[in-house]
Amino acid sequence: MVSENLEQVKANIEAACKRVGRDPKDVRLVAVSKTKPISLIEEAIEAGQDTFGENKVQEMCDKMEVLPDNIKWHMIGHLQRNKVKYIAGKVELIHSVDSIRLAKQISDEAQKQSIEIPVLLEVNVAREESKFGFFTEETEDACREISKMPGIRVKGLMTSAPFVENAEDNRKYFKKLYELAVDIQSKNIDNISMRELSMGMTGDYVVAVEEGATIVRVGTGIFGSR
Ligand SMILES: *Cc1c(COP(=O)(O)O)cnc(C)c1O
Repeated sequence: MVSENLEQVKANIEAACKRVGRDPKDVRLVAVSKTKPISLIEEAIEAGQDTFGENKVQEMCDKMEVLPDNIKWHMIGHLQRNKVKYIAGKVELIHSVDSIRLAKQISDEAQKQSIEIPVLLEVNVAREESKFGFFTEETEDACREISKMPGIRVKGLMTSAPFVENAEDNRKYFKKLYELAVDIQSKNIDNISMRELSMGMTGDYVVAVEEGATIVRVGTGIFGSR
C-alpha cells in the first residue's frame, strides 16, 4: 500500500515537472509521518523513502530513536523555543521558523553546539488567522534580521496553503511565495539563500510543483488518512 502510494506520488511529481519543463530531481519528497506508526514508516523506508516530516518534537525524537540513523528528519510544525535543544543537530531542516525569537533560539543553540542549522522561514501567504508564519511583507525584514545571527542558515521559504476543495484555488498562493523568494534573492542578503521552496501537501502538491516547489510535504497521500 505505502509503496504503491509512494510510486503514485512520485509519478505525479514527474508528470507535473514535465508539464512545466522542470527536472524532477529538483523536487524533494518529504513523507509526512506524523501520527503514523513505525511499521508504516518502515514500509516507506523499504520502498526507498529516506526523508520524513514530523510536526511534534517528542514524537519525532521517539521515532528517531528506533529508526535507522541514515533517515533524514524534517521538522515541519510550529516549534516552541524551549524544544529547540531537543532537535538541534538531529534534523536536516526546520521548515517552520515563524518568529524572530525562535530564530534567535535556534542561533543560540547552533552556537552552543558549534554547528550550522539550516531552516526555512514560514510565510502565511494567505493571511490565515489560524496559521503561524511571517506575512509576505514582513519576510524580507525577517531575513535581514536573521542574517546577522550566527549558526542559523536560511535556505528558503515554506508555506501551508489553505485547505481547499479545488487545488487550483491555491495556485495564487504558490505563485506569491515563488515571487517573494525571487524578490528576496535579488536583494543578495548575506547568508540568506532562497533556493528551497517548501510548498504543497496531499491536496495540492501537483499545483505547487508546477509553481516551483523544490520540497513537497505529503502525508495522507502516502500513509492514508489520519
Ligand atoms: C500534516 C502536514 C502536512 C501533510 O498533510 P497531508 O495533507 O496529509 O499531505 C504537510 N505540511 C504540514 C506543515 C503538515 O502539518
